[in-house]
Amino acid sequence: MSGKNTPNYNIRCHVTKCANHCGQEDYCALDCVCIGTHESDPSAPECTDCQSFIKK
Ligand code: SF4
Repeated sequence: MSGKNTPNYNIRCHVTKCANHCGQEDYCALDCVCIGTHESDPSAPECTDCQSFIKK
């Protein structure tokens, strides 16, 4: 199990405002994340969301 500040090098992430971000590097600290979409027919990266996001 990853600690809160331990980067998971399998999950790159730029969302530093997320409480799950490792902080010192550009990675998530979770072991696993859930990705979803808010669109009925997603066609671009902007159509997808990290549903594991938690506001810092
Ligand atoms: S939970 Fe999602 S948004 Fe938050 S740091 Fe991890 S990958 Fe990024």
